[in-house]
Amino acid sequence: MADIAIERISFQLAPSAEREVKKGHPWVFDKGIIKQNKDGQAGAFAVIYDKNRGFVGLGLYDPDSPIRIRMLHRGKPVTIDENWLKDKISASISARRKIFADENTTGFRLVNGENDGLPGIIADYYEKTLVIKFDSGIWIPYLELLTSIFDELLRPECIILRLSRSIDTKKLPEKVRDGAVLKGAAPKGAVIFRENGILFEAEPIHGQKTGFFLDQRDNRSKVERYAKNRDVLNVFSYTGGFSLYAARGGASSVISLDVSEPALKAAVRNFELNRDDILISECRHSTICMDAFEALTELARQKKRFGMVIVDPPSFARKQSDVESAVSAYQKLTRLALGVLESGGILVSASCSARVPSDMFFDAVTRAAAKTGRPLQIMQKTGHAADHPVGFPEGEYLKCLFAFTK
Ligand code: SAH
Repeated sequence: MADIAIERISFQLAPSAEREVKKGHPWVFDKGIIKQNKDGQAGAFAVIYDKNRGFVGLGLYDPDSPIRIRMLHRGKPVTIDENWLKDKISASISARRKIFADENTTGFRLVNGENDGLPGIIADYYEKTLVIKFDSGIWIPYLELLTSIFDELLRPECIILRLSRSIDTKKLPEKVRDGAVLKGAAPKGAVIFRENGILFEAEPIHGQKTGFFLDQRDNRSKVERYAKNRDVLNVFSYTGGFSLYAARGGASSVISLDVSEPALKAAVRNFELNRDDILISECRHSTICMDAFEALTELARQKKRFGMVIVDPPSFARKQSDVESAVSAYQKLTRLALGVLESGGILVSASCSARVPSDMFFDAVTRAAAKTGRPLQIMQKTGHAADHPVGFPEGEYLKCLFAFTK
């Protein structure tokens, strides 16, 4: 079978970049390239040679990103054809099938990009709806092929395409748009799926990410375990993921706080969906639609106190130069969260900023707490849910801290 290349560009890399590729890092940055025989379009095959013209590896070229090449293969030459892609996708899917064999969880990640050897491709499944998300334009020339492979392997009722904001769609065909329906009929509103037996809405077309934050699943289970008889404040709640688990864990009350009105409305509907669960239906749930920093300040002024505060903000560092301000934002949020956390309460603090490494984040939160005179007693430091395996340092974006406070 012939390979699927739309075009081919030859590269030679700086020694350090070449070493990283040989060690298995999936990215080559623009500054790591010393020679390139021509320019080309996103998705061109980037064939990397060493200085003796020996084959090093092969990736996809992205002229629009500082991550200029995303690696598909290294070592001996190989033909990247339809079968190669099918094997990779099917290996990724079967690894998940082994983890999620029960019908209590029908929403999970099937492909986790670079970490599954498919750089820039995310595939999330919600009941019978598949959402394919591209983080980069490199896969757009292969969209039809990918869609048919996923369709053959999974037979979903509906396939939706989501595109990262960094992809400029102006020059692309009309059907290649964020939220485009690639197969079946567009779902009318949200898709309902189960996570550990709790029903949730996912908004695959208009929602954030692919419609739900599946990466926090295992952390939500921990919240359920620790929430009993506590008043819980879920800051940056989105559609109430943590709130429902806290309720099922026996929380006396839960407040979902987010700046997005549609997300909070979905949180209310998610409680409604689970009214057959006694613990969830008996838990007092309310919402606050406000900026988190302002709301936390206001709640402290009103002398409100909670037995558990969950803080799961959006990414604060989109670029390297944001890292310092991201760290101060985490510190500020820690101070504000402690301001409404009762003595003996539990702080759950998460960061999804890939550019803020785990140590830096955990350090920022623990130092900020110590400075307020309420040092944290760390219960656990965790990361992504099991269907989000990590295969390289930058792939480890989610950090979460569980701690008791004095
Ligand atoms: N914890 C959620 C995911 C949170 S995503 C879950 O488990 O599903 C981050 C959320 O922060 C989004 O819902 C976004 O609307 C909200 N957000 C962003 N900026 C905010 C701000 N300044 N104040 C309050 N919420 C904010």
